[in-house]
Amino acid sequence: MGPGPHPSNERRADVKCELPLQRGPNAGSPATGSVAGYRRHRRAAEPACSACSTANRLYEQRRLGGALSPPPQFPPQFPAAERTIAELRRQGRLEPVDAALVGAFLGLAEAVDASPWAAPLWRQYRDATEALRQAGAADGRDAVRALLAQLDDDTD
Ligand SMILES: [Zn+2]
Repeated sequence: MGPGPHPSNERRADVKCELPLQRGPNAGSPATGSVAGYRRHRRAAEPACSACSTANRLYEQRRLGGALSPPPQFPPQFPAAERTIAELRRQGRLEPVDAALVGAFLGLAEAVDASPWAAPLWRQYRDATEALRQAGAADGRDAVRALLAQLDDDTD
């Protein structure tokens, strides 16, 4: 016997969400991209298409009251920043002269937490993280000074 026809993933007519909705204000339209469509996928034990997955995720976020929280790809930075500082102190890599850098770093961590979509803040925060990493290294002082000068400029 030769190989039979491949079950095709391209044939979408049997995807459950594409059948028209039976009830509600959108009756007659395909359920694709709705929570109802997502539930049909689940009932049919098939993976939900991306439109239905997105609809369901947004619905769950609203339901849990999470619609106003930052998306999960932005974990809070401030607690991590404080841990970083504590660790650098423990290793004896921070000197009194680094106080300004520490203040700027923590301030930026707080700022990116408050405005996680502000790309310029993330850039400054990343620079501050890098400068801190170099603090204590023999050639790190220049990077620290350059960063602090740049931060001073930005506040003018
Ligand atoms: Zn679907």
